[in-house]
Amino acid sequence: MAQSDLCPCGSGRAFVVCCGPYLTGTALPETAQALMRSRYTAYTRRDGAYLSATWHPTTRRSDLGLDEPVKWVGLDILATEAGGPEDTRGKVEFVARYKVGGRAERIHETSRFQRWKGRWFYVDGDIAEANAGSAGDPA
Ligand SMILES: [Zn+2]
Repeated sequence: MAQSDLCPCGSGRAFVVCCGPYLTGTALPETAQALMRSRYTAYTRRDGAYLSATWHPTTRRSDLGLDEPVKWVGLDILATEAGGPEDTRGKVEFVARYKVGGRAERIHETSRFQRWKGRWFYVDGDIAEANAGSAGDPA
């Protein structure tokens, strides 16, 4: 598989069988983690329509920040809590890595998700303290 076919979410699967069907609307993510991954992929593709559609209406922002010159370089899922096909709420803790102006940055967030009318939505998240947990990180 060519590198360019790999899904940006880091699943190791091809985009067309990973987040692709979610972004094109041919399938719905069954778990909070799948939605989280697909939203990360949407950020890498600057897919504002998908990001808005998967953001809970009560917390959705009009400014998605897609104008910022950010290059997303990787996603690591650290933990999940609930968020399964039978749940209505879930949490996903992740680190998303990106570059801006050539500098490597990262976001460490625990996001909350809610299922509403059969769909998972991103609600909001708690950003971990800067540098928390990164002591000794060679990056
Ligand atoms: Zn994916």
